[in-house]
Amino acid sequence: MGIPENFKLYADQVADTARWAARKGWAPATSTNYSVRLPPDAAPAICAITASGIDKDHLGSDSVIAIDGEGHPMNGNRLRPSAETPLHLMLYRRTHIGAVLHTHSIAGALLSRSAEATGYLAFSGWELLKGLEGIDRHDCEVRLPVFPNSQDMAWLSSHIEPRLPQADPCYGFLLAGHGLYVWGTNLADAKRHLEVFEYLLQCEREVRTHGYLAGA
Ligand SMILES: [Zn+2]
Repeated sequence: MGIPENFKLYADQVADTARWAARKGWAPATSTNYSVRLPPDAAPAICAITASGIDKDHLGSDSVIAIDGEGHPMNGNRLRPSAETPLHLMLYRRTHIGAVLHTHSIAGALLSRSAEATGYLAFSGWELLKGLEGIDRHDCEVRLPVFPNSQDMAWLSSHIEPRLPQADPCYGFLLAGHGLYVWGTNLADAKRHLEVFEYLLQCEREVRTHGYLAGA
């Protein structure tokens, strides 16, 4: 009971993902956090999550922590889980989610501020939308909810949880002026969803800055 014997496999996956996101330029100044769900027999441990304040460029599996449903670390070392752990735990209460990834890209920070009043960003017409689970065409509309930012993580998770779409597929959300959260049924799906949304955010930013370069 507690931390599974093969915990290092999960910790390696989380650490690899954190370094991958850092190489993409999505994790400046020790920001961002990443987690995968642990198997049911690991209870009361819920997930493996990156520790707070670690440079993601060099993050190793020894900086990944098992936490319980209250966010308490279970590894017995001095590391603290990410400050945004309550958001990860709120998402793991959605039973189909196997991994949660959170980035701080420039495109996400900029566009989330511009869309805060509207409450969402809409994407359509992009081939890469097909990278999202259940989407098989470009000519559809996918909405990414935008929520206000807060340093009160308990308030933030209780604000967001009832506002996430239940009927429509929902892959992630933006926090205004802050960054992007995405998830998937497993880590591979979550990474693909992250790449899709970061790509779409960059496209949207380019279009708003330069247009579609018609006639260029
Ligand atoms: Zn953050």
